[in-house]
Amino acid sequence: MTQTTQTKPIGDTGMGRLHDQVAIITGSGRGIGRAIAEALAGQGAKIVISDINEELCKSTADELSQQGLQVLGVPCNVTQSESIEKMVETVVNSWGRIDILVNNAGITRDALFMRMTEEQWQAVIDTNLSSAFKVTKPVVKVMSKQRSGRIINIASTTGVHGNFGQVNYAAAKGGLIAMTKTIALEYASRNITCNAVAPGFIDTAMTKALGEEIISKVIEKIPLGRMGTPDDIAQAVVFLAGPGSYITGQVLEVNGGLYT
Ligand code: NAP
Repeated sequence: MTQTTQTKPIGDTGMGRLHDQVAIITGSGRGIGRAIAEALAGQGAKIVISDINEELCKSTADELSQQGLQVLGVPCNVTQSESIEKMVETVVNSWGRIDILVNNAGITRDALFMRMTEEQWQAVIDTNLSSAFKVTKPVVKVMSKQRSGRIINIASTTGVHGNFGQVNYAAAKGGLIAMTKTIALEYASRNITCNAVAPGFIDTAMTKALGEEIISKVIEKIPLGRMGTPDDIAQAVVFLAGPGSYITGQVLEVNGGLYT
């Protein structure tokens, strides 16, 4: 009897696990969003680079397209419903479907609770939480018709555990996690999964703004002894975006072991 050996990951057809699937990644001009887009494209997906910064959106899309990836660059401000509708329309007109949505765009406006202004509170709630509500609505309509889809929300360990100086950010990301679990329930019957990835301390412009001293202090506390990379987060997203997933309503913390 001849024995066969499994040489490819399950679901890998040789063309990538996500061959020809259409993926929208918000805030993907740089940082974690860009790494997610590249990793999904690496598995054969057609990617939509979308960002509030039009120039960055175009230059990133051009760069990735020159690498031979299938890319559409569509600027979008995720706090504005009109801008979102235009993006979704452009994607559907160009590629006819949407298989994967990654709600990634986010900002920080840190301050201790007593010093936090209403503007700081509202800006973070609008960009990190209400945005996911606004973007998911038109996208889930398309996915519902297809009877398939993967929604992945980029939350944060702060949304699970809280963090000093980030009451707005913690509330927004905690809300995003609650929204993830509810959408998972409401859309399971349409074969649409919804999960959250909660990054810990990741090396991007967002954390560089904290300065060397704070960065070194946080790294000292991380059991794996380093900051995460955008690609560490991207690999978790690729896993959740894969075909045939029985995982929905989950929060995957990608944090080097730092659970605080
Ligand atoms: P980043 O480097 O600042 O990238 C975020 C991107 O989103 C930027 O290009 C930004 O554009 C864009 N953006 C901001 N507001 C937007 C809007 N209204 N519409 C569309 N795009 C918008 O941040 P990152 O570190 O990659 O973070 C990505 C996600 O991961 C965020 O949701 C963040 O909360 C989450 N996260 C990050 C960490 C971390 O340690 N880095 C940890 C946990 C969670 P502008 O530059 O023009 O604002």
